[in-house]
Amino acid sequence: MAAIPDKIQTWQMVEPGKEGKPGVLQKTTIPMPELAEGDALVEVAGCGVCHTDLGYFYDGVPTVSKPPLTLGHEIAGTVLAGPEALVGKEVIVPAVMPCGNCPICDEGRGNRCLAQKMPGNSLGMYGGFSSHIPVPAGDLCVVEDAKFPLSHYAVVADAGTTPYQAAMRADLKQDDLVVITGITGGVGVYMGQIAKALGAKVVVFGMQSNKYMLSKLMAFDAEIIGTWGCLPEYYPKVLEMVQDGRVQIEPFLEVKPMSTIQEVFEQQHNGLFDKRQVLEPDF
Ligand SMILES: [Zn+2]
Ligand SMILES: [Zn+2]
Repeated sequence: MAAIPDKIQTWQMVEPGKEGKPGVLQKTTIPMPELAEGDALVEVAGCGVCHTDLGYFYDGVPTVSKPPLTLGHEIAGTVLAGPEALVGKEVIVPAVMPCGNCPICDEGRGNRCLAQKMPGNSLGMYGGFSSHIPVPAGDLCVVEDAKFPLSHYAVVADAGTTPYQAAMRADLKQDDLVVITGITGGVGVYMGQIAKALGAKVVVFGMQSNKYMLSKLMAFDAEIIGTWGCLPEYYPKVLEMVQDGRVQIEPFLEVKPMSTIQEVFEQQHNGLFDKRQVLEPDF
């Protein structure tokens, strides 16, 4: 297993963007932190680029931890240090890690816990566009017998699991009819597959204007539910669907070296990708 270096190599957002103008990214090193009780150190294999990252980097959406910080919350990697049972394991880092100890968490709504830790947002200065990241160990989802390169499992950390949370929230049942708008989007491709895996009948549309769809929803006496990430406890269920092929990830992702982060952000901001971009550290 890889040794633990004394520094983390990372692409930091040193300035956020505003009104569509990009922020400033800088390749730098930060000290390797002393691991806190209950944390694990993950060597990053890959980190997916999410539209949430672009919101921080172009649109002035505020991060909880102020810059400089490293973006990236869609992470897969290998545990180098932490609880003994996890060391050496390949893991997916949930995008949102609830505190587990507040009234919101107690109600089973931990994905919107106000004390949650989210890499690249509210996990101090740490994010996935790095060589390593310290994360809460308790929520890690272990990947046994990886069927694809580990970096590819990064997409499960957010794009693949957020729709599962939406399905649970909507109380999706076998034979329900599910209408998916935006099936071609990064999350939409997984919503379709997960709904089908859960036994729903699925009707899909490509990208539709929300306004148009809202009027259609009224006709169904439907409601709109938002979701922010996914409860860590659901990750093994989604991973199982990925491992047995009910949810395909390979056709919907593309791997690039992390050193291309600037151009990947720019191209994705300009809508040039159909596939999720996963960046692999190449410091
Ligand atoms: Zn995301
Ligand atoms: Zn909480």
